[in-house]
Amino acid sequence: MVSLKLPTHYCDTYGFDTQWRKARLALLDLTAADAVIGERLRSQVIQPNLDAIVAAFYARLSDDAESRAILEQADHAALLRSQSDYLMYFGADFDTLDYFEDRLRIGLVHAWIGVPLSLFLCSHQVMLSVIMRYIETTISGSEQCGLISFMNKIAALDTALAGEVYHIAQMRHLESSVSRLRDERIQLRHAVGTDVLTGLANRASLLPHLTQALANAVRDEQPLCVIMADLDRFKLVNDTHGHPVGDQVLRDTAVRLRTSVRDFDLVGRYGGEEFIAVLQNTSLEVARQIAERVRVRVGSYPYEVATPPLKITISQGLAMAREGDSVDSLIQRADAALYAAKEAGRDCIKIADDTDAG
Ligand code: GH3
Ligand code: MG
Ligand code: MG
Repeated sequence: MVSLKLPTHYCDTYGFDTQWRKARLALLDLTAADAVIGERLRSQVIQPNLDAIVAAFYARLSDDAESRAILEQADHAALLRSQSDYLMYFGADFDTLDYFEDRLRIGLVHAWIGVPLSLFLCSHQVMLSVIMRYIETTISGSEQCGLISFMNKIAALDTALAGEVYHIAQMRHLESSVSRLRDERIQLRHAVGTDVLTGLANRASLLPHLTQALANAVRDEQPLCVIMADLDRFKLVNDTHGHPVGDQVLRDTAVRLRTSVRDFDLVGRYGGEEFIAVLQNTSLEVARQIAERVRVRVGSYPYEVATPPLKITISQGLAMAREGDSVDSLIQRADAALYAAKEAGRDCIKIADDTDAG
């Protein structure tokens, strides 16, 4: 059987404090006098006819298709037990914390197992009308009124409490759906902006980042540098060792790049074997040092992806943002510098508009 893990202090959890409970009892005019009437209702009407009342209640519910469907799925013995308990102690100790706790718990259980609120309220009414029949046949006419009034007050209290927790259960359900959706959206956004092979930022997320970085650089009058990096003769790696080995080289390169820059620098995969680093608040000299670190980390440590390990090199073009630059013009200049590095024999760094500086 499914065991529901329920909190034990509903009144505390949901804010139904002593004052709130007293106010509800006062509004319904439930007083000490009612406690005496309640005892009479239970001992003279309900308890002597308990089994018959429960049986009549379920017989009525079974006439209704929706109720029948729910009853068929439930643990019948447990249902009978809890319904009998509820009736045995109908309205007993209505002014205690335990009473409220019990009503809230029962409402919550019904909400969680998916009994619609309208069905819950209607079946409660069905039960009252069954009890009413027994009041009419057991109690003399002049005394029926007090018992019926008590029954109605308790019914109002019980259904009001059930309504409250149904509402709370729905809110909780909505809250958890919203938070699940939020998590999924974050994951999705991350997935959309991430290159699957290397885990680096992909082109789609790089460009907005670079746009923002360029705007910040202009606003704060801080230097911004971009490095375009491209593995040398990478086609040969694929052709000689196969595509999976090529993929592993790309993954390893991503790690070498990431660990060559500072945490706040963005590294992305711009295309096949082409990478980009966006270095904010970074002078040309520091950017050149970073590019040199990349060159050494790629070129000086053969990749353990084949036997013997593969010697891989990387060419880089470096550009610093200048007045009037757009993202396109900045990338174009870094790209031109990269082309110059390839032309110069690869495994080197060239700086845009200063191709002798590398
Ligand atoms: P260069 O030094 O001039 O850059 O030469 P190159 O061979 O690196 O450049 P080219 O543009 O001729 O070849 C790039 C190769 O990169 C070809 C392509 O198959 C490979 N490539 C692109 N994306 C991937 C990928 O995701 N995985 C693998 N394994 N290879 C890729
Ligand atoms: Mg290449
Ligand atoms: Mg290329």
